[in-house]
Amino acid sequence: MQARADEKSLTLAVEVDDHLPEMLEGDPVRLRQALYNLVDNAIKFTPEGQVILRLTGRDDGDETVLRFEVQDTGPGLSRDEQARLFRPFEQLPTAGPNAFGGTGLGLSLVRNLARLMGGDSGCDSEKQVGSTFWFEVRCRRAGRAAPQAGQPPSEMTRSAGGGRILVVEDNRVNQLLITTYLEQFGFEYVCADNGKAALELLDEGAFDLVLMDVQMPVMDGLEATRRIRARTDEAAAIPILALTANAMKGDREQYLEAGMSDYLSKPINAAALLAMINRYMTGGPQNRARSA
Ligand code: MN
Repeated sequence: MQARADEKSLTLAVEVDDHLPEMLEGDPVRLRQALYNLVDNAIKFTPEGQVILRLTGRDDGDETVLRFEVQDTGPGLSRDEQARLFRPFEQLPTAGPNAFGGTGLGLSLVRNLARLMGGDSGCDSEKQVGSTFWFEVRCRRAGRAAPQAGQPPSEMTRSAGGGRILVVEDNRVNQLLITTYLEQFGFEYVCADNGKAALELLDEGAFDLVLMDVQMPVMDGLEATRRIRARTDEAAAIPILALTANAMKGDREQYLEAGMSDYLSKPINAAALLAMINRYMTGGPQNRARSA
């Protein structure tokens, strides 16, 4: 982050409230992912000036509400743009084709992560002045006996024994979103950026299931699936779930014809993803035996 800020001559500053409790129970993985997205966006869309990361906290009963703010001197957003920003896949046409491309999913991920941690996210912004993106999370102050915060709801509990999943997806934000869910469910995973890289990973080790994006550079998901099904080793029978943004009439047939086991539409819903993984991973004794 610092290196990228230096490249653009941006000042990257960090301000941390001195009065925060020394120990808090929280979820460092989710926190890092949420924070990474906000700082990444701020650096990307601020041509000059500074990006300030500010951390403050306020006590609420046994918990402390941590507030992370990322303030930039970027172009700023109108009230209407702010309202639309946190929706999945929302981009801002008025900002030009590339100005905010890709931030929609990043910000909706931040909001999902913040809400999973009992908080929320938002944005205060003024045109020509800059923006402050923020998210808050609730953390129990350490040293008090209490149920662990941040446990997934019961319907999202991990499948017994977990499993090893190959995530084939070219978009880094989608990778992050999917692997956040997999981590939460207790699965192991390895990511590949395209179909060709996925085939190489299948040569190297055993997986229980493949999550396969359809549109990817180098080798797309349909071609990769055909090649997996044409293998002569046990990987030929692995469950392959397509993850697709463009599930239109007729697409499902095309996926199944290529050899995919089933498909899920983006934006990916955590509960639907887990349900489908569990259905196919525990689908039969041959599946479990093969992965052993
Ligand atoms: Mn893709």
